[in-house]
Amino acid sequence: MKIITSIFDLNKEIKNYKNIGFVPTMGGIHAGHSSLIKASQKNKSKTIVSIFINPTQFNKKNDFKKYPRNINKDIAILKKLNVDYLFRPSVKDVYRFKSKKFNLKKSDKILCAKSRNGHFEGVLDVMNRLMSIIKSKDLYMGEKDYQQLYLIKKFLSKKFRVRINSCPTVRIKNKVALSTRNKLLNKKYLKIASEIALFLRKLKRKSKFQPSEIASILPNYKILLETKYNIKIDYLEFRDEKNLELNNFKNKFRLFIAYNINNVRLIDNF
Ligand code: AMP
Repeated sequence: MKIITSIFDLNKEIKNYKNIGFVPTMGGIHAGHSSLIKASQKNKSKTIVSIFINPTQFNKKNDFKKYPRNINKDIAILKKLNVDYLFRPSVKDVYRFKSKKFNLKKSDKILCAKSRNGHFEGVLDVMNRLMSIIKSKDLYMGEKDYQQLYLIKKFLSKKFRVRINSCPTVRIKNKVALSTRNKLLNKKYLKIASEIALFLRKLKRKSKFQPSEIASILPNYKILLETKYNIKIDYLEFRDEKNLELNNFKNKFRLFIAYNINNVRLIDNF
């Protein structure tokens, strides 16, 4: 695996490759990330993994500061996975050039966009920058961050003529979705996260038969979970998979949740 830190070196290295698969990450590599890497390798792409903790997508300074970092462990895992390139640019390099600013319309200010002011504008900005550097044919992203996937498809897929490969959420045995932020939780909180995931999975299954009825009592479930586990739920909503419309049960839909547990924000969808 080649580790590259400058945009110039990366361009030189990859200019002759046509079939590039790009896996953007913020590090803390886990089996969720590995599944995206394996999907790219299966596609016989030269696989570039980026590790870049993008400061502009953190709406709270402290969240950025405490985001888990362990680059040596990440490098060891990526080497084992036979990744072709690890791209680790500096903040200065990525933000050196002028680039389009993104503004979300009111209709997109839903779910995480509603409470994390500027978060997706930061995500779109950095993805626009990274994709203009890497110009890959394929991009691999996880359904765990469904709204991010949706917005990148909406704003960037045509511009870069990139195929966006969405990969299912990888969970540990107890059904908690793998996330770098899980490292900030102790056993007790991970057990709560597991109970919540199991409960919501069941609820989603039930909702296939009577979605409107369950939707109407979701606010009660929200309060129930908040009091039982002493957590703060930002949202618990059913939304259409294609357009993220609220309580539209004509097509496939998902149950979305974001909550704070011991000052750590977790998101998931079922
Ligand atoms: P992150 O490093 O958290 O920014 O995530 C980088 C990429 O990995 C994003 O496309 C995520 O959606 C994806 N990802 C994170 N966690 C998981 C998971 N548990 N299963 C599948 N993909 C994931």
